[in-house]
Amino acid sequence: FFSDKSSKILIAGHKGLVGSAIVKKLSESGYTNLLLRTHSELDLTRQAQVEKFFSTHKPNYVILAAAKVGGIHANNTYPAEFISINLQIQTNVIHSAYTNEVKKILFLGSSCIYPKYAPQPIKEDALLTGPLEQTNEWYAIAKIAGIKMCQAYRLQYNWDAISGMPTNLYGPNDNFHPENSHVLPALMRRFHEAKVGNAKEVVVWGSGSPLREFLHVDDLADAVVFLMDKYSGLEHVNIGSGKEVSIKELAELVKEVVGFQGELVWDSSKPDGTPRKLMDSSKLAGLGWVPKISLRDGLVDTYKWYLEYVKQ
Ligand code: GDP
Repeated sequence: FFSDKSSKILIAGHKGLVGSAIVKKLSESGYTNLLLRTHSELDLTRQAQVEKFFSTHKPNYVILAAAKVGGIHANNTYPAEFISINLQIQTNVIHSAYTNEVKKILFLGSSCIYPKYAPQPIKEDALLTGPLEQTNEWYAIAKIAGIKMCQAYRLQYNWDAISGMPTNLYGPNDNFHPENSHVLPALMRRFHEAKVGNAKEVVVWGSGSPLREFLHVDDLADAVVFLMDKYSGLEHVNIGSGKEVSIKELAELVKEVVGFQGELVWDSSKPDGTPRKLMDSSKLAGLGWVPKISLRDGLVDTYKWYLEYVKQ
């Protein structure tokens, strides 16, 4: 069983925001046999490399946290990479895991798989009921294919493949790129640089009115371990905090945590994206898991990490 601490577990994408938090969680929980490969050691987009890895190392469990990810601008700018790299990674890993008798796999997607105008809060069964948000449909289509692949392998082969759909995540090891990152790390960096440089203003994209839900990645890691242990259903499971804030409220909170004293300026030439994206995570709550980290505490923790990171 997964609760056996000597299980051989591949965490694909272990250097990223999500993978690194899962490695930390598993290590703290006493797991001793984690299989970790960097991108240069194992390129998950290369089928032959993935097949060789699985047949050589024979993992017992797989957590698939490797993906090409990015914010609204990156999704708009690199549509070909978002669809192709994600399809390649997940197809290679899921299929090789199955053929090499992995006992269970967890595939991670994202809340952007849901239709742009899905009823809020979004339940799992809203999947494929309407058109997607255009700015991230390439990524979303790949992730939907991943969920469907897990379902298909469960149905045809009776194989234990599950999917978790996290809401917008943040925390240590996030991507803080000024243009290509998600809103939370982008703002943290911008406010920090403005504070250090004594700037009077910080530019924030869009209108500030879109609503978003955020979950600290340590909470996600906890939920992932919980699902590996307790869930074996056909349907994917939403993983959210249940709390939403407007981008304006988020910007004010990040500003306060960073300690920037100046003004916010809104750049309305930048897209707002989907108006609201709150997931209904009652299925996960019904299974017995709830998040623990508030947005404010999570931001303080992330900023502490960021200060160490920029020092290096
Ligand atoms: P989304 O949740 O898929 O839309 O992705 P993002 O995290 O990139 O964007 C969320 C919202 O934050 C959108 O309405 C953006 O316009 C807004 N936003 C405000 N400032 C920024 C910024 O500096 N970077 C990003 N990525 N989004 C920003």
